[in-house]
Amino acid sequence: MTKGELVLLVWNDLVGLSRTRGVPLEQYERRRRHGLGWALAGQSLTPFEDIAPNPWGPMDEVRQVPDEATRRRIVLKQEYPAFHVALCNSLHADGTPWECCTRSFLAGALDDLKKQTGLEVAIAYENEFLLIDPALEWAAPFSVDSMRRAAPFADLCTRALIDAGVDLETFEPEYGVGQYEVSCGPATGLAGADRVVITRETVREAARQCSIAASFSPKPAPDAVGNGCHLHLSLWDSSGNPVTADPTGPGGLSDAAGRFVAGVHRHLRALVAITAPSPVSYMRLGPHHWSCGFDAVGVQNREAAIRICPAPDGDAAAFNIEIRSTDATASPYLAIGAIIRAGLEGIRADMTPPAMVNLDPASLSDAERRDQGIRTLPGSLDEALDAFQADDSVAQWFGPVMIEAYGALKRLEAANATAMSDSELCQRYRGAY
Ligand code: GLU
Ligand code: MG
Repeated sequence: MTKGELVLLVWNDLVGLSRTRGVPLEQYERRRRHGLGWALAGQSLTPFEDIAPNPWGPMDEVRQVPDEATRRRIVLKQEYPAFHVALCNSLHADGTPWECCTRSFLAGALDDLKKQTGLEVAIAYENEFLLIDPALEWAAPFSVDSMRRAAPFADLCTRALIDAGVDLETFEPEYGVGQYEVSCGPATGLAGADRVVITRETVREAARQCSIAASFSPKPAPDAVGNGCHLHLSLWDSSGNPVTADPTGPGGLSDAAGRFVAGVHRHLRALVAITAPSPVSYMRLGPHHWSCGFDAVGVQNREAAIRICPAPDGDAAAFNIEIRSTDATASPYLAIGAIIRAGLEGIRADMTPPAMVNLDPASLSDAERRDQGIRTLPGSLDEALDAFQADDSVAQWFGPVMIEAYGALKRLEAANATAMSDSELCQRYRGAY
């Protein structure tokens, strides 16, 4: 029954797309150790057909080596071919991680956090997406009607996500026409990022099998509601106890979590070049969209870039930190890895968290925001890249080759976008993401 099924070796690259090479199941065992080759310059592909200037040219390759623990068989409709997904690390021939491997970048950040502080991170994502189905008519936001109009897709998708083991928690209609959201429970470390990749690809597969499409693009059309991809993090000690909350700390944050948030806040303007890394990301980010336009931190503040989320019943395990300036054009491995690097810096340097902002930062005047240390987030990809390239810490987290390759790639994406109208730009990214 599984004869000839393809195992897709999947890696999530610098533009946050899941690329793949497939092997028949019968060949998979033979490929497990060394995976399949992939030209280094492939990492400099934009989401479209261009390859950005890069340090490698036509030379050399990495091995895309599957992590067997991540492999799962994805089967939805019985009449549609099943497939397997195995997430890969990009390794040199000797098995060491390539410096531009996104998954290894996150693994390195998690390792350093654990070695230097004893802490582990639980990770969960909210995934907003647009269902592209010409037959889907307008329905009231968040309504049962909106949910039920998508029922055949939603049912297929729910079953597939449960089978995929991503701990699906909610499936709901969102604010926009045709906009939906799936949220999964937290998973520790790498598994949290793996879960996002599996979730997105499963949602896309469910849509495909219903002859429609799902797009996670942050701005699927100039007048559409933006798709966020909010990231929730919590800190855990080596005995498995939650250590994010302390009712006596600022915003209810523990000492370690306060310092972690301070580090993320310090680097937030540079971090958006990684967490909101496409030209359309900046059509989503901004005040009054519940996405965020300023680098504010606040308890239950949905216009803050960092929202502190206490649990309704005071449950310390559910207390978490939400980063709202993230979207699905980011590689989850790079985004989480960079945020952890920034948080670790905050812990090590004993940084003080900023004052909690308990109102819409857009309701303040420029002078009031300045006095409170609230900065505007970059308004374009180029502006974010300027902040990224001016930040010395960021350069240390990534290393020179990654900085060069990522900078060239993202500058090309920004330059290409200037030749397009807003609607053309949104349409292209909607297709790719
Ligand atoms: N769609 C909003 C965004 O782009 C998020 C809305 C919400 O809070 O769920 O971030
Ligand atoms: Mg939402």
